[in-house]
Amino acid sequence: MVPTPRLIVFSGAGLSAESGLATFRGATGLWEGISIRTVCHIDTWEDNFDAVHDFYDARREAGAKAEPNPAHRTIAAWQKAWPDRIHILTQNIDRLLEGAGCEQVVHLHGDIRILWCVQCRHEWEIAGNRYERAGCPACGKIRTVKPGVVFFGENAPRYDDLWQIVASLRKEDTVVVIGTSGTVLPADQLFARSKAYSILVNLEPAQQMDEGAFSERRYGPATQELPTLWPTLRSRMDRE
Ligand code: NAD
Repeated sequence: MVPTPRLIVFSGAGLSAESGLATFRGATGLWEGISIRTVCHIDTWEDNFDAVHDFYDARREAGAKAEPNPAHRTIAAWQKAWPDRIHILTQNIDRLLEGAGCEQVVHLHGDIRILWCVQCRHEWEIAGNRYERAGCPACGKIRTVKPGVVFFGENAPRYDDLWQIVASLRKEDTVVVIGTSGTVLPADQLFARSKAYSILVNLEPAQQMDEGAFSERRYGPATQELPTLWPTLRSRMDRE
């Protein structure tokens, strides 16, 4: 029996760029002019406690103003078309996929609206956009409160979901990779060298990836490119 085709959607910062959320330049580079090493590294975050929280407060404020764009909505429509056969994985920490109606999104790098205590491991959702330096609701400590975002050098628990999917890919499956430079997670090695049919959608060629390994490459804004994928996806997903 031929296995049922599945659709895997793997996105990065480029998916939310047209909603006004800045992308990120290079694993050791800058994000909105601020060094990633200062605000996004497990070895240094406690020394830079206020800078870290100020940075993520600003990301939450930007996220609260941002609206899902047509690319997020296209992914939500794919999920409606093939609800039991889609896996949505994102490196993004915003909630714009959910805002567009997507469900069961795997946030590989965490969620901007979550805080957690590295001391007692309590986790909670922040009420507004700013962390007012209140203590952990469970243990009361302040300096152990960390944004619920995976920092460089930190364990990423949801990578287990990713490894499982990558290990299970078959030629009947289709993977759509959107808006990622491949500097944090090598989408080419994960998906383009698998048995699945792989489609890359990026604004421009990314030097970090072996883009020739993808079955198809589309260069342009995700909002314009994703809706054009319907015929390919229908022919692959609705095969008898
Ligand atoms: P990246 O910033 O390294 O690369 C962005 C990629 O998106 C580039 O290849 C660029 O060509 C492409 N791009 C830009 N605008 C696009 C558009 N309109 N349509 C299609 N493609 C577009 O992103 P990354 O690979 O996801 O790595 C960044 C890391 O930083 C991730 O771990 C992510 O968690 C985090 N991050 C998240 C957000 C967010 O949640 N919105 C924003 C910035 C960074």
